[in-house]
Amino acid sequence: MRANYHTHCDFCDGKAPAAEMARAAKEAGFEILGFSSHAPIVQPMPWALRPERLSEYAAEIRRLKEAWAPGGADARAHGSMEILLGLEIDWFPGERRPGDGAFDGLALDFSIGSVHYVAPRGCTPFAVDAHREGFDSCLAASGATAREVYRDYYRRLSALIVSGGFDILGHFDLVQKNNMDGSLFEEDEDYLSAAFEAVHCLEGRDCVVEINLGGMTRHAAPRPYPSLAILRELNRAGAPICFSADAHSPENLGPSLDAAEKMARELALAAGYRSIRILKDGEWIDRGI
Ligand SMILES: [Zn+2]
Ligand SMILES: [Zn+2]
Repeated sequence: MRANYHTHCDFCDGKAPAAEMARAAKEAGFEILGFSSHAPIVQPMPWALRPERLSEYAAEIRRLKEAWAPGGADARAHGSMEILLGLEIDWFPGERRPGDGAFDGLALDFSIGSVHYVAPRGCTPFAVDAHREGFDSCLAASGATAREVYRDYYRRLSALIVSGGFDILGHFDLVQKNNMDGSLFEEDEDYLSAAFEAVHCLEGRDCVVEINLGGMTRHAAPRPYPSLAILRELNRAGAPICFSADAHSPENLGPSLDAAEKMARELALAAGYRSIRILKDGEWIDRGI
């Protein structure tokens, strides 16, 4: 069963309308597709849903849900697919956190909790997944070291996990996005102890950690998030996993995703996982990898 709960569309920074993303998912053989536009932070962000468009977004995904449900117009033409309404909600202290109840009125099917921003040494927050040039200039302006960046990132990730209010934890080691060449820091003992602190916050919680393939399909990253060392620790901590496309365009659901998913499956098995968790008909269930 192919399922993906991390899909962006043109309501946020995705490149295509939700209906097009749904058609591409069906063509790629998905049986379950969850939409997860970037939820608005209080201050307007170019990559996030605008608050005044929230209800329009929810209505469009619900329309697709009906169209692709058995008997719906798209299902009659192409076969049915379960569509889910979700949001990717940022950890942005003082403005937004997944558990703040801001989106309760939408009756979401699921949500993703993600950290994209850091503020080492109390600097102006900047995104760890910005393009390298932008990231480098923010890092220089902050006066912080790369080590302080990942420590701040994992402090925030730990706080997000403890705060809760979401179903899926987004791209666990996104702080590595600009460091796939190892030029900023090593995945050494200090790094892993910061990352493992966040892993241990997951113990005893019903939080699904995604193996995120978006870096591979969109930025030619050599591996998914998170790394094998972190995956092993996640398995030891008993954290369930799912596979996420983090798709921003229909191509991200195509053949490039197949190759990335193959690697994710191998990494998950190498880390000791034997099943992934999927949300189907309103219930989280485990399926063999
Ligand atoms: Zn994200
Ligand atoms: Zn995303």
